Amino acid sequence: MKIAIIGVGSVGSAVATAVKNTGLVHEIVLYDRDGIRARAAAEDLGHAAAFGFDVKISAVSNYRGIRGSDIVIISAGANQKPGQTRTDLLQNNAEVIRDIVPRVMANVDPKRVILILVTNPLDVMVMLAQKLSNLPPARVIGTGTMLDTARLRTILARGLDVSPQSIHSYVLGEHGDSSVIDWSSITVGGLSLEDFCHQAKVTLTAATRETIEYRVRNAAYEIIRGRGATWDGIGAAVSDLLKCIINDERRILTVSIVAGTGAHTVAMSLPRVVGVNGVAMTLNPKMSSDESTRLRRSGKIIQKNFSHI
Ligand code: NAD
Repeated sequence: MKIAIIGVGSVGSAVATAVKNTGLVHEIVLYDRDGIRARAAAEDLGHAAAFGFDVKISAVSNYRGIRGSDIVIISAGANQKPGQTRTDLLQNNAEVIRDIVPRVMANVDPKRVILILVTNPLDVMVMLAQKLSNLPPARVIGTGTMLDTARLRTILARGLDVSPQSIHSYVLGEHGDSSVIDWSSITVGGLSLEDFCHQAKVTLTAATRETIEYRVRNAAYEIIRGRGATWDGIGAAVSDLLKCIINDERRILTVSIVAGTGAHTVAMSLPRVVGVNGVAMTLNPKMSSDESTRLRRSGKIIQKNFSHI
């Protein structure tokens, strides 16, 4: 299994480390338009590989070097500076995706390659990459709200005093400020959230829910304020997605792919079954009418941003 990572900044390096540590790939190639940075990352990661799985890691100076890649991860482009939203990156990163995707497609097998998008604003970049690559939507996958969903599960787990593994909960829609927490579909150990809270004698007030929503939606802003960028969480999310694909695990992940037709075409996150051929199925989770309205609004924001690039 050969993986290419395009864009080896904070995120690309963290992704490479996390992917290397899965032991599932035999070769990782790194490309960045800053060749010195890519070579330095390959050198450092190569040394790290000596302590773990035997993975061949190299920097390539042009796109011919990614030939034979089964999966290409795109993590290039500007990141948010303190105070910036993901949407502020729109025009700059659209140019980055326009630069990268045709070059990638000229050097991979379109019949089997899977593209994983990380660059923000994520959902719009998925729409653009799918259009430019002309690949089936099921094989142009954005990490979407995987990280937001992980943050939600972690916060809920602490409040409910159970393992995050026992909580099924989803953040839907945009990987951005309009994301929607689907309170209606949350289950804990197979019980609805209400039933669990009743049995565990925990009270989740409307104010607590609001605080949780705020923390989930603003987690990235807090991290960027504190350490300049986010990378460890997304590194783990990408390697988890990769593991799910390579092992054909068919887990349900909140990833973003292009769906719908005509005026309804949009990429946003919904719970989706992911396996060796990418996304195999999309689920429509239980939602209140308010949650459905907010999800539709989230989709419209993504469509509007896409129309601006
Ligand atoms: P960074 O500035 O550290 O690295 C970006 C890298 O991209 C640089 O090395 C740069 O040289 C390279 N690059 C830029 N344009 C390129 C091009 N045309 N071709 C090849 N390489 C190019 O930024 P970062 O912190 O690594 O963030 C990268 C992206 O990931 C950002 O858009 C950021 O918002 C996004 N991100 C997404 C998530 C998520 O959940 N989806 C989480 C964190 C960060």
